[in-house]
Amino acid sequence: METKLKIAIQKSGRLNEDSIRILKEAGIEFNNGLNKLKAEAYNFPLEVFFLRDDDIPQYVEDGIADIGIVGENVLLEKNKEVKIVDRLGFGKCRLSIAIPKNQKYKGIQDLEGKKIATSYSTILAKYLKKNKVNAEIHEISGSVEIAPSIGLADAICDLVSSGSTLFTNGLKEAEVILKSEAVIASNKKLNKKQQEILDKLLFRINAVKKSKNNKYILLNAPNENLDAICKILPGMKSPTILPLADKGWSSVHSVVNENEFWDIIEKLKEKGAQGILVVPIEKMIL
Ligand code: ATP
Ligand code: ZN
Repeated sequence: METKLKIAIQKSGRLNEDSIRILKEAGIEFNNGLNKLKAEAYNFPLEVFFLRDDDIPQYVEDGIADIGIVGENVLLEKNKEVKIVDRLGFGKCRLSIAIPKNQKYKGIQDLEGKKIATSYSTILAKYLKKNKVNAEIHEISGSVEIAPSIGLADAICDLVSSGSTLFTNGLKEAEVILKSEAVIASNKKLNKKQQEILDKLLFRINAVKKSKNNKYILLNAPNENLDAICKILPGMKSPTILPLADKGWSSVHSVVNENEFWDIIEKLKEKGAQGILVVPIEKMIL
């Protein structure tokens, strides 16, 4: 029987869409019809399980699923024996301690003796211990942000992305405990065949990630500035240069990184580059 790699992803919630998208962009087709627990890919040896994110670390540790896409925050909180094999760049958030907006805050010592409500008691306890602060942890499973206003706690420890939920609940961020994003966690004992499929999957996902950070750029350059322009463009190896019908001009093609993009465009224009076209790259294999 053909070996299949079993991947667990969130059934619904913040990571669901992006998890499906990254698999689809890696060319893996499967049916994600609602109310299904399981789907088989048509064109890749992969079986997809749709689960609650909280359950994913345990399933991966036990090998019910071989790998899973889950927030690093959940992984650290559940503290299971699994291995992080890739970081995915979505589901970004912070786990932070927040206190009432109008309260003065000088530093972590101000939390001494306070009562903190959270659904992340493992991570919070470790953090407090490391910082030698004695505080009472009050574990609750949802609506953590209302705890101070109803008198349940002095502070909270919860996930934050923009901070607007904190603000509307009269809170402010005091300490950032963890910066998190979605990761791929793997069972520690994959067999050779499973490992091969995982490597293939990671290779594809990385090609998609790289292509997102890079743009293909085409421009016309006056021949006398070709050298200077090629120096500005890093390219994968070196830029492609094609002569134009218009004598004295060449067409230059290259790949630039998103982070350096505007810098590079400005320098190119200074060197007389014209007709600059920038195109998205779908996949990038190095
Ligand atoms: P489930 O029903 O699967 O248990 P959930 O309600 O626990 O879902 P979601 O709110 O969907 O979880 O969040 C899933 C993950 O998305 C979080 O664990 C975290 O990694 C990430 N995330 C990103 N931004 C935020 C945010 N602002 N608030 C909460 N989680 C966020
Ligand atoms: Zn959850």
